[in-house]
Amino acid sequence: MSTEDAATFDCPECDVSAPSTSVPYDSLGYVVCPVCGYAATPEAENPAIADRSPSASD
Ligand SMILES: [Zn+2]
Repeated sequence: MSTEDAATFDCPECDVSAPSTSVPYDSLGYVVCPVCGYAATPEAENPAIADRSPSASD
């Protein structure tokens, strides 16, 4: 099965997978999820989602 002929976009938000050639791109050239609209920007380390600190006293 040679299905790796094209790059695949895997959305981290809704876990959808689609060929990179069949997904839309925003004005900056980043892949946009066709399902949830998630934009694959290089800003992966968003401090807004880092509120769950692993050093929380349990
Ligand atoms: Zn998505």
